[in-house]
Amino acid sequence: METIIVKSNEQGQLNKADLVQAGSIIRNGGLVAFPTETVYGIGANAIDEAAIVKIYEAKGRPSDNPLIMHISDINCLKDYALNISVKAQKLINVFWPGPLTMVFSKTDKVPSRITGGLKTVAIRMPRHQIARSIIHEARVPIAAPSANISGKPSPTRGYHVIADLFGKVDMIIDGGKTELGLESTVLDVTREVPCILRPGSITHTMLEEVVGKVSYDSHIKDERHPPKSPGMKYKHYAPKGQLKIISSDIEANVIKYINIEGKKLMDMGYKVGAVVPKHAANDINIKYVESIGSINNHTEIGSNLFKILRKMDDMNIDYIFSFEFKGEDVSIAIMNRLNKAAGYNIVNV
Ligand code: AMP
Ligand code: MG
Repeated sequence: METIIVKSNEQGQLNKADLVQAGSIIRNGGLVAFPTETVYGIGANAIDEAAIVKIYEAKGRPSDNPLIMHISDINCLKDYALNISVKAQKLINVFWPGPLTMVFSKTDKVPSRITGGLKTVAIRMPRHQIARSIIHEARVPIAAPSANISGKPSPTRGYHVIADLFGKVDMIIDGGKTELGLESTVLDVTREVPCILRPGSITHTMLEEVVGKVSYDSHIKDERHPPKSPGMKYKHYAPKGQLKIISSDIEANVIKYINIEGKKLMDMGYKVGAVVPKHAANDINIKYVESIGSINNHTEIGSNLFKILRKMDDMNIDYIFSFEFKGEDVSIAIMNRLNKAAGYNIVNV
């Protein structure tokens, strides 16, 4: 398949003709990959079953893993979501447009292809200007999962999407680096106490400030529990190399461990990488050191995580050591992704 690639300008904008073309491709059953404030999405007309099937094919995604429906106009929410609660309405008022996806009971207008057969549908209104304009131009809701091959880290740069999907979609819009770099928070609002199914940049604290008590799916705090969000059960974000998280209250121990164990592996001829906070980069004596950002700037760390995991793959790194980026709020999302990438391979030192 021929793939049209268009780039946004320095202000992150796309010209009107490209937006109109993207909208028309989607409305007519094609696929367009585009940036959002979280990660890049691969979009299709959400009410066209044949178009939805193409997304699953392009990504190699299991068909029981439902897609998020993206809208740009709050007035069409009631066409797809039933029983919008007072709490959900409050969350919409505060966080939409933005990186919050909510799970509602679905109406009959939502094809079951998009929900993997579930009676619920996940809906989000992104705030990225290009994403909003494309949905507006398409004049239909857009089903859009992350624009990566299933099992790879989500794309946070245009070149990630081109690497994964060139030749598999009709159009790729390269909008540079995405702002947040972590997928949206997924919140189930079908229950009395809303429940976080996937942590993201809209944090537990931010949600509780608006609606009172919010729970976490037990899978997030303890991966031995089965997840309620189908997508969370799949092996995710895994780099090709073996990733290990080094945990300690004493930073010097982490540095020492990485230097000693890393050297052993390098002496055996392996390529060894490390994911470290900026201030520690100079203390690490192994070859491929990636600084992920300032230790207290969780937004920066979140926005660089997937880029670094992909870079480790591109460099064919065999073993990767990562610091732990523990804490509350966005750190929960960062560690959720990092733990999955590492297959819960964590060592305490
Ligand atoms: P992605 O768009 O690739 O970031 O993945 C969307 C995420 O939302 C996956 O983890 C899905 O399993 C989850 N999701 C989508 N629809 C639903 C739903 N109806 N109920 C629960 N989780 C959902
Ligand atoms: Mg995804």
